Amino acid sequence: MAYKTLDDIDLTAKRILIRVDLNVPTEDGRITDDTRIRRILPTIEAVVEKGGHPILLSHFGRPKGQRVAEMSLNVATDTLAVLSGRAVRFSDDCIGDPAKAAIAAQQPGEIVLLENTRYHAGEENNDADFAQALAALGDIYVNDAFSAAHRAHASTEAIARLLPSVAGRNMQTELDALEKALSAPERPVVAVVGGAKVSTKLDLIGNMLAKVDAVVIGGGMANTFLAAQGKPVGKSLCEHDMLDTAREIASRAKAQGCELILPVDVVVAEAFAANAPHRTVTADACPDDMMILDAGEQTVALIEARFEGAKTIVWNGPLGAFEIVPFNRATDAAALKAAALTKAGKVLSVAGGGDTVAALNASGAGEQFSYVSTAGGAFLEWLEGKTLPGVAALQ
Ligand code: AMP
Repeated sequence: MAYKTLDDIDLTAKRILIRVDLNVPTEDGRITDDTRIRRILPTIEAVVEKGGHPILLSHFGRPKGQRVAEMSLNVATDTLAVLSGRAVRFSDDCIGDPAKAAIAAQQPGEIVLLENTRYHAGEENNDADFAQALAALGDIYVNDAFSAAHRAHASTEAIARLLPSVAGRNMQTELDALEKALSAPERPVVAVVGGAKVSTKLDLIGNMLAKVDAVVIGGGMANTFLAAQGKPVGKSLCEHDMLDTAREIASRAKAQGCELILPVDVVVAEAFAANAPHRTVTADACPDDMMILDAGEQTVALIEARFEGAKTIVWNGPLGAFEIVPFNRATDAAALKAAALTKAGKVLSVAGGGDTVAALNASGAGEQFSYVSTAGGAFLEWLEGKTLPGVAALQ
């Protein structure tokens, strides 16, 4: 991918508008997890070190074009100051006189934080005038919010067309990991696609079939594939209206030379509840009054064997109902295997999207993956092979 970075442009004495993701989780007006703030620090430091003046732009929540007091980005000011060790000047509007005044008063080494971009309807409409009002505040635009790059909004897309634009450090790290995992991966590549439903992952599976050597189908969606083969699934989560689609995916996989790995044994339980009575049966033997909640040990062994022969692993979605014990077992075991192979330098592993981060972190495997994306929707759209407007605008 051809895009410029902070190393390709002179920032000296320039006003640098940085689109970050400060959409932090809060409770009663307090930040409950400061990960997103920590993640923007390398870009801020690089900008200051290169003589630029960092001015931060972000959305926060969904105020839908209105000033909603509970969605003020001022909530991040103090934590940002503490974590960065820098003075933070907050502007209570992201355009116009308040923003201009804050930027005019900005001292070298200080950070200006602009109010929630979504207080203006023009943000989500990708409005040209609003983008112009943002662009008027700076000399250079830096996009460091990969997690917002799947949306064509004024602060992620239109503005990039008005100013010299480069990728920030987070954006660079994320694009680099994704490129290594799918655009130019070392083969063989094994993809794990798990989760609840086939219907929400059709585009993703379609794109995987064309790009990888094997796809492991896990979680509730595997039940739909088993039912499509005429196997009983009892009370399992299963999309009975998707059986033709599942069959079509299976035949497409065959035609494209991509191995589809389905469960050969499954853990069946009496109810969707922690420690519900359960046992392991072969994949063609789910009793009528039970439900499949996890993959069995033989399936895990099969997945582990494929991992051992792989150079790259891409992971989205759990192999079972990982939130309730003991139906986290297959997900944990396979994730720990991928983590161990990564640690041993044998594979590159990239994971992300939806519940995946929680599922991998629960076993501690996530920490050892080569890269775990917290970007959610943007990561999924990228796996689906879609062009992300915020990334395209940098190219
Ligand atoms: P997704 O959001 O599509 O990644 O799906 C994740 C959800 O799928 C989690 O909440 C899991 O509990 C759920 N899930 C995975 N396997 C099963 C299964 N066999 N039966 C019911 N739910 C499942």
